[in-house]
Amino acid sequence: MDLRNGFEIKRYIRTIPDYPKPGIQFRDVTTLLADPHGFRAAVDELLWPFLKVDIDHVVGIEARGFILGGAIAHELGKGFVPVRKKGKLPGKTIGQDYTLEYGVDTVEIHADAIGKGDKCLLVDDLIATGGTAQAALDLIHRSGGEVVAACFVIDLPDLGGAGRLREAGIKVHRLVEFEGD
Ligand code: AMP
Repeated sequence: MDLRNGFEIKRYIRTIPDYPKPGIQFRDVTTLLADPHGFRAAVDELLWPFLKVDIDHVVGIEARGFILGGAIAHELGKGFVPVRKKGKLPGKTIGQDYTLEYGVDTVEIHADAIGKGDKCLLVDDLIATGGTAQAALDLIHRSGGEVVAACFVIDLPDLGGAGRLREAGIKVHRLVEFEGD
């Protein structure tokens, strides 16, 4: 079993056609997370570039970024900071709007979660257009934090999100690619 090239990880990811709407190939990581080898391999592969890197917080995006980011934070011996959908966090928050295919959504972070100069590793399951990740990165920057890197299990390169983050100077680490959207 060669986990370094991501091949095995890809085999654990289920594709559900036409979800949540016709034409979308939903890349479902619940089958990866449910498998003990798959889950451990994904977490290990996501975090290994950062084992010796100075990090203060792992920042995960709701909801699958919580599962992966929580495990990565625990393994790295760091704290976990959630980026949530609007209205879910109980304390004072800052919010960032981002554009979806139809309309606008908002993600939020606790205003006191990240201090000035804190080094943050962003985690989500998948990057497509990069809108969600960019909004989370904006929240880290507006909190005064620094972004060490953004990591994802899945990249949909045809949608260009990872490329746009890299062009903006963000280091992107991702494990597998799927063609199309
Ligand atoms: P984006 O903001 O376009 O990069 O979309 C990324 C977010 O939407 C992530 O939180 C993903 O979980 C979710 N997402 C977008 N497209 C897909 C897809 N084809 N399959 C599974 N999740 C997706």
